[in-house]
This record gives sequence, structure tokens and C-alpha cells, in this order.
Amino acid sequence: MKILGPDKCIHCGKCLPACPSYRLLLEENASPRGRNLSLAHRIETSKLELCLLCERCAKVCPQGISFPINYILYKLNNKSPNKLYTISNKLASFRNFPLHYILRKKISEKSLERVSNYYTESGDFYVYASCGLRVLYPDAFLNFMRLIGKFPVHLPKSAECCGIIHLALGDLESVKWRALRFLEVFCEEKPVIVFCATCFWMIRRVYPLLFMGDEREVTFQNLAERTYFVFDFLKKGLSIEAKMIMDDGILYHFPCHLSLPLTSEEIHLKSIIKAQDFCCGSARLFLWKEGFPRNYRKIWREKTRGKYYLLTLCTGCYLNFNLLLKEPPKIGHWMEFIR
Ligand code: SF4
Ligand code: SF4
Repeated sequence: MKILGPDKCIHCGKCLPACPSYRLLLEENASPRGRNLSLAHRIETSKLELCLLCERCAKVCPQGISFPINYILYKLNNKSPNKLYTISNKLASFRNFPLHYILRKKISEKSLERVSNYYTESGDFYVYASCGLRVLYPDAFLNFMRLIGKFPVHLPKSAECCGIIHLALGDLESVKWRALRFLEVFCEEKPVIVFCATCFWMIRRVYPLLFMGDEREVTFQNLAERTYFVFDFLKKGLSIEAKMIMDDGILYHFPCHLSLPLTSEEIHLKSIIKAQDFCCGSARLFLWKEGFPRNYRKIWREKTRGKYYLLTLCTGCYLNFNLLLKEPPKIGHWMEFIR
């Protein structure tokens, strides 16, 4: 992965309108440009922590600078405790986080069984049974199974969280542990199919970064290269053309973590079904304490006016929309609406 450091910023400002946290806070040190400047001078400010890790800045920057990638590298090389978000602060933010309400509502033994009935110990390719796939949108998996028909799927039972929660809290040692665990489970040289954009981003962008310069770097690069987002794999691996259900009442949401050139599906899917890539309000749980995602509600309300389904491709987006839209349209995963 080619990485350009924060000192390569030419201060052009092109990233500012693309950055959701800058658009909300309108403070220079909460912009990618300001954050890169802070990193270049090794100044830790609270605004570094308010980055959503969305990488929208990297997409528009003429230099190709990604603030989150530089931030993760900085954190790896500077193990000093974060002064501004201490552990107790982070735990306090969890007390206010209403995730358990939605999970209690969504998780049922029945829902878990729908995916776990398909656990296997071998197959031509892996499917990663992430938390979202098992708990929130099992129908996406069942529809995938219906579509692929006879192809033998390897669905390991022992797969765990990709580690985004730990990354969002700045706990890189736990993310590394998760990455090694992931590699252990998905060790055979065959494709890994992922249904969640953020898990996909973690495996493709973050895991190799965590082991850069280490003897395991090549192994994680190999894992990244054989990891496919579900639509890409259907098309390239199985020659199955995904046909989405077209209906004026459905709004397709395209998550930020598919927006870098990690999947060929962006242009294809956006042009065909007019998917929109507005911000879901962050994968970083402690931003809830800042009231951050709530500020996005009015955008979502406008977008979803007259819609009865809002479909996304990411567990974090799925949760944010469900939690914060008071009278939400029904939230789902694109794979549930494929023919
Ligand atoms: S990753 Fe997103 S929130 Fe963070 S600086 Fe870049 S555009 Fe802004
Ligand atoms: S777009 Fe890139 S080069 Fe321009 S200000 Fe932002 S980070 Fe710096």
C-alpha cells in the first residue's frame, strides 16, 4: 500500500467539503487538512479523535493522502495513552450508547439459527459470518445461498468481530489480536466473501497496515487480495449478475467504506440503481456522546421521504439508521433485494 504522510499535504483545501466532521463542526482543526497538520507536527488534539475513519478525504485529495491511514500509523508508533479519551471516558460513552436496545429488539435465537444452520467445515470459498450478517440481516445470507445454488460454501463457525469497535476506541492491540484470529480462521488459500463494507475495509485496508514491516505483512496482503465484497464475487467469481429490485420506494445507500477503489461495484451499482453515499454518522461509538450522528438525522429524513425501505451494505450504517430515524423506513441489506 502506497502511503503518503501528513507532511505531503499541499493545503489545497479540496478535502474540506468532502469531510463530514468538518462540514458539521466548521473548524479547521477538525478538517482533514487541519488534522494532517496536527499529525505532521505531532500535536494531539481532541479533533483527531472526531475523525469518522470514512476515508472520504483520501478519495478527493490530489496527493492521495488518507488521514485515517496516517492516524493509525501514528497510533501504532506512539503508544502513549490518549489523554483526551481515557478508558473511563470511553466506557462512560458506552453507558449512553443505546446499542443494547436495538440489539435486544433485533437478536432472537431464531435469527441466529438462520445463519448458523449453514455452518460448514469446508467449501470452495469462505463466507465471513460477521455479527451483522448473523444478527441483523440473516436474510441477506439466505438470499445469497439461494442465488449461488450448488456452489459449496465454507462458513466457519468460529469467525468473530473484525475489530472495528476496538479501532474506533483507539485500542490497536485488540485490533491486531482480532486480525490474527481472523487469519487463523480464514487460513486456507481461497476467497473470503464479506457482506459488510466496514469489515471489508478493515480486512483490505487496516489489517495489512497493522503488520507493516513485520514478517506477517505479506500474509495479510494476501488475505486482503483474496477478500471480495459479495457483489464483486458474485460477478467475477461466480459469473452471477446481481439484479437489484428497482422501486421508487427503495433508497439504496452506498457506505463510505466501499468508496475507495476497493470494489469495482461502486460505479456499476451507483449508476444502475442510483445509490446515494451520504454519511451514516460514524462508526466511532464515542461520537454518540458528542451528539454527532444525531445531527445527520435531518439529511436522512430528507433522503428517505416517501421511501419505505432504506437499504445499506454496512452494519454500522444499519445500526445508526435504525437507532436515529424516529419513524424509520424499514432498514435492510441490499442482498435481501436481489433477484
Ligand atoms: S476520514 Fe472522513 S472524517 Fe476523517 S478526516 Fe477524512 S473525510 Fe474527515
Ligand atoms: S486535499 Fe489533500 S493536499 Fe489538499 S488540503 Fe486536503 S489533505 Fe492537503
